[in-house]
Amino acid sequence: MKIGLEMHFQLPTRSKLFCPCPTAPAEPNHNICPVCLGYPGSRPSLNRKALEIGLGIAQFLDCRIEERVWFSRKTYFYPDLPKNFQITQYETPLGTDGRFELNGRSIGIWRVHLEEDPGRIRRVGRPGEEIAFVDYNRSGIPLVEIVTAPDLTSPEEARTFIDQLVIELRALCGLEAQDEQTVRVDANISVGEERVEVKNVQGLRNLERALRFEAGRQYKLIAAGKRVVRETRRFDEERKVTTSAREKETEEDYGYIGEPDLGEFRTGNMLRALDLKETPLARARRLVASYGIAEVTAKQLVLTSSRLTDLFEELCHHVPAERAVAWTTGPISGNWSTLQDQAIWPELVQIVKADAEGHINDIEAKRRILALAGVRQEEASGTEDDLSKLISDYIDAHPEVLADYRRNPKAANTVIGHAMKESRGRHSSKEVVEEVKRQMERRA
Ligand SMILES: [Zn+2]
Repeated sequence: MKIGLEMHFQLPTRSKLFCPCPTAPAEPNHNICPVCLGYPGSRPSLNRKALEIGLGIAQFLDCRIEERVWFSRKTYFYPDLPKNFQITQYETPLGTDGRFELNGRSIGIWRVHLEEDPGRIRRVGRPGEEIAFVDYNRSGIPLVEIVTAPDLTSPEEARTFIDQLVIELRALCGLEAQDEQTVRVDANISVGEERVEVKNVQGLRNLERALRFEAGRQYKLIAAGKRVVRETRRFDEERKVTTSAREKETEEDYGYIGEPDLGEFRTGNMLRALDLKETPLARARRLVASYGIAEVTAKQLVLTSSRLTDLFEELCHHVPAERAVAWTTGPISGNWSTLQDQAIWPELVQIVKADAEGHINDIEAKRRILALAGVRQEEASGTEDDLSKLISDYIDAHPEVLADYRRNPKAANTVIGHAMKESRGRHSSKEVVEEVKRQMERRA
């Protein structure tokens, strides 16, 4: 099975792509102006921020980036498109021939380009007596379109792909969080020779359903000795089936022409000024490579919190990675709301370090971490003072041990055994041995 995706994401800019109208939600037809309503004589001007974000995405996706880009008019007539053309990029997308790593596999990215959203049509009333309302608030909202090669092999993988892409783009450029539900996707799917396009599916769950249905439909046709017809289909969310849309437009039918009002843009300087952040999944891959931790652990860390991952990396400078994993995914993430305060990290590092070096045991380390987090602990437990008192009390009560020790240092073992037993594992043996020796030496 081969699946290719064409996804549209709204870019997180404050104003529209070609006019200063706000992108924030508002009453219908509130955020509009002569440019996004396509009035005669109005002229678009490009939102540089949108271009910058688009270039960042193209670069993140490892695309070849055009040095000069321009926009085109895609001509069609529909009430949601007041200019009768949509400004998009046709001949010069921002990026081509990129890739995205999905769970160790490289998924090809054919193109990344910018375009404006049309308006929205809302129909009310009974079937046959509907009234259509048009809201132009969305007209001119900046979108990035990302087109993949048909490298995905199942509906589940297609969903996972978008899911992971959204995680990355959110961290990279602040893409809106609700995109899993609102992302609009056109998908190509073929199980045999001929491919079918399923257009305008909204949300990841619907995408997976639409692709499952369509794959099943194609398999059945082939099994029955029939041909799969190359066509465009729509997904009916109510009935959860795809239906033929009987559309015959090809890209050539749109009669693309260059947009004369915007001119050309050079990407060189903008690209050089880009400062791309390390995205969560890229960071997870680096953690696996640098610290040898399991991939599932690395993903758990980066998806929990980038600052928790910062602390993990800090701990890795002092203790073996598996100890850093145990503490960060255990008691530290469990009390993250208080422990995320960077001011107490040095102390946290010291505790984990003392544990790793055997100066204290795991129980004591956990107790100290919880204390640092301000967690009240039921069980009275040992502190270093307790240990020191436990030992000195025993030596006071058994002066003969001290006398033996002067002749044979192995006599200290009696005190060590007693202290280990009494402290019930609250202290590491190394810690007990050191404290006993210190006190015996002082008194001997
Ligand atoms: Zn406007």
